[in-house]
Amino acid sequence: MNIVLLGPPGAGKGTQGERIARHFGIPKLATGDVLRAAVREGTQQGLRAKAYMDRGDLVPDEVILGIMKEALARPEAAKGVVLDGVVRTVPQAEGLERVLGELGRRVDAVLMFDVDEDELVRRISGRMVCEGCQTPYTGLDASARCAKCGGTLVRRKDDEPEAVRNRMRTYREQTAPVVEWYRRRGDGASGGADGLRGPRFITIDAAGPVEEITQRVLHELAR
Ligand SMILES: [Zn+2]
Repeated sequence: MNIVLLGPPGAGKGTQGERIARHFGIPKLATGDVLRAAVREGTQQGLRAKAYMDRGDLVPDEVILGIMKEALARPEAAKGVVLDGVVRTVPQAEGLERVLGELGRRVDAVLMFDVDEDELVRRISGRMVCEGCQTPYTGLDASARCAKCGGTLVRRKDDEPEAVRNRMRTYREQTAPVVEWYRRRGDGASGGADGLRGPRFITIDAAGPVEEITQRVLHELAR
């Protein structure tokens, strides 16, 4: 089963992705991890990526896709993968479809983690980090102190409500067309180039306890 995860930053899709992957005994592939591993191992595509990184350039989609293809072709990924953060734009969705097609595979399910923006802002701006030892905390107020070193707890600039809302805006602008693209493929009216039906598109309510959300996902995938 090849699963694509979509969802705004902070919706918990990384955590859920790991739990889903463990449940099915398949790897979770996140773009950053796969890229770093390919560079470290010096794979053919990893070396291409490194050349861009050494120049301080962004690694282009095409090279990222090459790295994904290497990872997808590994024996441990034969049963399926959970793809986290791999698809953020329509060209990336098209590229992934092509690469999977070359391996005789396709995306089976797209899981969209849906969370209310105000709830997300509350959740993320509730994160604090110790100024001294960088230990992260959640749910403490600003007057609390680090349990490890007694340091002051501060909120990262990125976690300020305004920054979170900005990220949400960018995410929505980028991802709305991707959601639309998958929805259209998933409705069975217009299959892929090979005439096969597109993936199942599943929206998951990402509010609530971690375990409960995992159960929602597994329940939906089993239907
Ligand atoms: Zn500390």
